[in-house]
Amino acid sequence: MTPTTLATNAPTGNCLRQRLATVESRIEQACTRAKRRRADIQLLPVSKTISVERLREAHELGLNRFGENYLQEALSKIEQLPKSIEWHFIGPIQSNKTRAIAENFSWAHSLDRAKIARRLSEQRPDNLPALNVCVQININEEASKAGIAPAQLPELVDTVRNLDKLKLCGFMCLPLATDDTQQQCASFRQMRQLRDKWLPDAPILSMGMSADMEAAIAEGSTMIRIGSALFGPRPNTNDAQHDSG
Ligand SMILES: *Cc1c(COP(=O)(O)O)cnc(C)c1O
Repeated sequence: MTPTTLATNAPTGNCLRQRLATVESRIEQACTRAKRRRADIQLLPVSKTISVERLREAHELGLNRFGENYLQEALSKIEQLPKSIEWHFIGPIQSNKTRAIAENFSWAHSLDRAKIARRLSEQRPDNLPALNVCVQININEEASKAGIAPAQLPELVDTVRNLDKLKLCGFMCLPLATDDTQQQCASFRQMRQLRDKWLPDAPILSMGMSADMEAAIAEGSTMIRIGSALFGPRPNTNDAQHDSG
């Protein structure tokens, strides 16, 4: 297989093994501090820009789900990698992407509009179980970010609940990037309060990335989305939810 242009920073398999061990110990320490069980937190490796070869290595180390932001890149990986892998779409969802997402993914974390929800449900193939979805909340109400404003949440929750081929699993956020732990915790705590209020029966809080996973775990995250801490720095480190493909 020819190396792809995605393999810009290609550490060895050992390196990936090492990084995974480091991430695991961070999760365990955060769980201990928060008096939570490790089993209650799922690790979603975020594999945008990472080559198929490295994902194969990751899969061989036991990672069996990946989060992807760019549709075309993801579809190519899905086609090449084992069918047992569970794929999560975490990038912005425009109308022209809904069919491919409905047909190829198990999860979509970035649902923030009723129109997109309806399309995903209509386009989910009959032979597949309902698509697991999280509603993305723009928790710090940043103009540049995707996600629904907290005030509009109840209406969207209601819409999604009534769609047959979507299973509303919880909420997701991509908070303000900050090194301030207090501020990180404040955003994540608001997420938990919104979940407790509007979705008490849905377990998932998809929140926490490489830089803020400890704060997320402290505040109740159940699914952390980890990219650079596992796969190393990406060529452009400022591309969370960058929109292309
Ligand atoms: C890239 C990305 C991540 C992972 O970010 P890291 O800081 O590399 O861990 C998580 N969530 C979303 C939505 C992303 O776009």
